[in-house]
Amino acid sequence: MAKRKQKPNFWDRGNPPARYDIAVLRPKNLAKGKRFETIKDSNQESLRSEQSLPFAKLNRSTLRDYLQECRDGAYHCYQTFCPRCARTFRRWFISELLRTTEDQKSVHMATVLLEAAPSDKIDALDPNRYKARLRKDLQEAGLGDSPVVGGFEMIYRARDRQWILHINLVIVGATEKALTKFQESYDDSAIDRPVVKVPVKDRAEQLSYVLKFTTYHRPYKQTGSGKSQAMSLNAREHHALVKWMSRFEFQDMMLSYGRKLVTG
Ligand SMILES: [Zn+2]
Repeated sequence: MAKRKQKPNFWDRGNPPARYDIAVLRPKNLAKGKRFETIKDSNQESLRSEQSLPFAKLNRSTLRDYLQECRDGAYHCYQTFCPRCARTFRRWFISELLRTTEDQKSVHMATVLLEAAPSDKIDALDPNRYKARLRKDLQEAGLGDSPVVGGFEMIYRARDRQWILHINLVIVGATEKALTKFQESYDDSAIDRPVVKVPVKDRAEQLSYVLKFTTYHRPYKQTGSGKSQAMSLNAREHHALVKWMSRFEFQDMMLSYGRKLVTG
């Protein structure tokens, strides 16, 4: 479990400029799912998550405590499973994506399915193990000069009772040839259709999906940037996912390549 911190983290130092602020670009008067999550949305999600987590044994701090205490405003827990802190991190992260892609003609999003694990083996999956390989694959595909920013996410495929670790990469200024070469470097994957790429046309909409920290699953669509119906995980998978998320810091869940992000 990451330590509780008092000093604001680099991504928690005020709102981004309006033109990079997803909370301005996807404002609160839009419908849920269209708008960037409001604090109220995050609080509701935090409460929902807390209520499906187990109580701890006597005198032990629990995942539930982080959610509740952060909602109470006692401190910022900086846990990746906390919807309030995830909202702050995402607001910074999306602002960096908007800045990186501003005035760029060629922007693509590639979703790479990295590794699958059975429902009781989520702890076998670790994003940090994939960072070096992804950088190497990008380099070898000729994307060495393209800024790339990505976010790791975990999805659950209820049908197969499997966790799948994947990354959504935003690739700027890439040629079609380089993108195809990158895609081909996953041809030997054990996972079906390991790389799906789409052009980014609506930046505010698509970039807001690159890195989420939700504990839902979407049984009817598993890849790409589109939205489909989100369903709650059952209590056992929800707990496993939240525990897994508690092992990581927000920075662990992102990859940046060829681009220095503004970190304070
Ligand atoms: Zn928090």
